[in-house]
Amino acid sequence: MGVRTLTIRENILAANREKAESIRQLLDSRRILMVNIMSSPGSGKTSLIMQTINRLRDKYRIAVIEGDVASSIDTDKIIRQNVPAVQINTGGGCHLHAQMIKQALDKLDLDGIDLIFIENVGNLICTADFDLGAHKNAVILSIPEGDDKPFKYPVMFVEADVVLVNKVDVMPHFDFKLDGFPAIIGGLNPSARVFTISAKTGEGIDDWVSWIEATLTRT
Ligand code: MG
Repeated sequence: MGVRTLTIRENILAANREKAESIRQLLDSRRILMVNIMSSPGSGKTSLIMQTINRLRDKYRIAVIEGDVASSIDTDKIIRQNVPAVQINTGGGCHLHAQMIKQALDKLDLDGIDLIFIENVGNLICTADFDLGAHKNAVILSIPEGDDKPFKYPVMFVEADVVLVNKVDVMPHFDFKLDGFPAIIGGLNPSARVFTISAKTGEGIDDWVSWIEATLTRT
């Protein structure tokens, strides 16, 4: 029974990877950069996306794919900014998978789009296992969550291209040791970039936006 369960899971992940690869090929043919943003619920994924849209919307055409267990609250926020967005509701599922992204892409008019953000379901565990066809993975960890989370949920941080430490504006109220944090990430994932930001006040967002723009020029 255990072996069979393992095999089914491997088959699911292999089929997902294949779908993800075909998505990347589609995006590459259109020179679109897709970035998958992951974090716990409430860490600031939507706020980061909104800040990024505000800084880049005059230079690039942006679209958003929103993943949540239920509701279209985040998609409604994005659409109010006149940015195209598609909501995926997983109906209880704790992560997005590549087929969901393909269906969302089919609903977007990709002509002229330069950059797509995926806001994954709020979760530090199962979202990390599923390749969505994105080119880059960004993980947000917010100050109130604590600096020990990379040790407790390592897969997420090992696979990240970027780690954003958000809510730096509330630093004085928490014990997050910011000075030692880049070394923690460096120990798990030496190539990850670490940015310290406040998606609320805009502090540090310029560095992240510069990274996005540098990545876009290579797409
Ligand atoms: Mg959100």
